[in-house]
Amino acid sequence: NAKNTGRGTTSFFNAELREQAASHIELHHAIMLGLKNGEFFIDYQPVVNSKDGSLHSVEALVRWQHPQHGLMPPKAFIPIAEKSGAIRELGNFVLNQTCLDIPKLRKANIMGRVAVNFSSHQFYDQMAVDTWFEILAKHEISPDNFTFEITESMLLPDRERQRDLLLSIHHKGIQLAIDDFGTGYSSTSYLQHFPVSMLKIDKSFVDRVPEDKHQTALLTALIHMARALEIDVVAEGVEQVNQVEFLNKHCADLIQGFYFARPMPIAALVERYGQ
Ligand code: C2E
Ligand code: MG
Ligand code: MG
Ligand code: MG
Repeated sequence: NAKNTGRGTTSFFNAELREQAASHIELHHAIMLGLKNGEFFIDYQPVVNSKDGSLHSVEALVRWQHPQHGLMPPKAFIPIAEKSGAIRELGNFVLNQTCLDIPKLRKANIMGRVAVNFSSHQFYDQMAVDTWFEILAKHEISPDNFTFEITESMLLPDRERQRDLLLSIHHKGIQLAIDDFGTGYSSTSYLQHFPVSMLKIDKSFVDRVPEDKHQTALLTALIHMARALEIDVVAEGVEQVNQVEFLNKHCADLIQGFYFARPMPIAALVERYGQ
């Protein structure tokens, strides 16, 4: 009631807000310091052809070797980086590191594209996009080496500016993939008029296939839709041989999952798939 929303409550909220602001500044600082000290690195996870396990492409996944907290997965710091604004510098680091790694892959005859994850917080204006192309130009890496993974939310009708930025990127030769496809609760109508090259079907649609009839029906429908639209489809999070067999039977050509390969350092990738 009204009496309880007096001075005590107000100062409590103020303190909480102050604390939040402070921890954001701290975390922003920690990430920036970590970037400066070389604490971040990339693992690459193969995307393979389901028929023979041969390599199709790789996805760059960022990790943080924190001096106190140890190895931190992206879920532990990407959301914080997004809120604090550090995602911009972090994203530029990832792009820069992949530009350094791509020549090593090509030298080992690993030719597929490298997929890089982008959060919507990274698509704020043309200047951000220009920075990415400056990074590529500096390393003399052509845009057609890359796939940018985005989520469905970036293609919502009220995200016109982000859509325009994505279109300009596509026109330069970068392919666009929809990550975590099916989890965004959004209409699929954007697929009609937006240049999407790849749908990555989220692990949650794959987990209980083929035992769960309902999930299996959904997965099958998603695969057929992508094929009808002539969009490549990747099943994410595949761990079991019966999942692989099911995907093969239903002509889902591409698989990413622990069954075939976990994310690994570039040296391990070259060792395993290089020639
Ligand atoms: P994502 O883009 O959907 O990447 C796939 C995630 O699924 C990776 O987790 C990968 O290790 C995991 N995965 C792949 N196959 C399997 C499997 O068979 N079983 C299980 N249990 N997991 C599997 P990771 O590396 O922890 O990354 C989590 C998320 O963090 C990514 O999901 C992506 O959204 C985000 N992320 C990673 N790197 C970056 C980055 O450089 N920038 C941005 N903005 N986000 C990133
Ligand atoms: Mg991804
Ligand atoms: Mg993702
Ligand atoms: Mg995903």
